[in-house]
Amino acid sequence: MNQQYPSALLEKAVNEFAKLPGIGRKTAMRLVLHLLRQDETTVESFAHALTTLKHEVKYCKVCHNISDTDVCRLCSNPQRDASTICVVENIQDVMAVENTQQFRGLYHVLGGVISPMDGIGPSDLEIESLVKRVEAGGVKEVILALSSTMEGDTTNFYIFRKLAKCNVKLSIIARGISIGDELEYTDEVTLGRSIVNRTPFNGTN
Ligand SMILES: [Zn+2]
Repeated sequence: MNQQYPSALLEKAVNEFAKLPGIGRKTAMRLVLHLLRQDETTVESFAHALTTLKHEVKYCKVCHNISDTDVCRLCSNPQRDASTICVVENIQDVMAVENTQQFRGLYHVLGGVISPMDGIGPSDLEIESLVKRVEAGGVKEVILALSSTMEGDTTNFYIFRKLAKCNVKLSIIARGISIGDELEYTDEVTLGRSIVNRTPFNGTN
């Protein structure tokens, strides 16, 4: 149907790449032609990395971070402070906070934020398992590190209500970060500082 492609195989590969976020057809073509110029082992190991990732990757049953094992490296590290849990939206946020080297506790990956517009409610997120973790005891502080958006705020408030009965200190990362910024795009120094300078969360701040 599309005459510009000299090969249906080429077109198929370009179509697959063009499905990726931020990749237009031109870039897709460039990537495919680049791969085509590589030797067979390189291309096979590229394809293999993707298929094994999808087949074998696990999510930590404690914090829901991506992991090669049932319990991730962070959760199973005795040197981490298990009494402090940092609540984040996604896996990239765990990596962003880790890069600041300002946090020695554990994480809880929600898998997003409450967003009625997108049909995402509390039950679509790992909020119940956070409450269970806190109820199980040993947790002294929960740090909310969600993005400063309306959805992030709604989620903060929901968690605040859910944890109100628990004897746990709830804090929120300092909002040096302007409204609408997402955690993963904030620079390490600012993010590190906002974790160190976190403030108690009373449901409204
Ligand atoms: Zn974990």
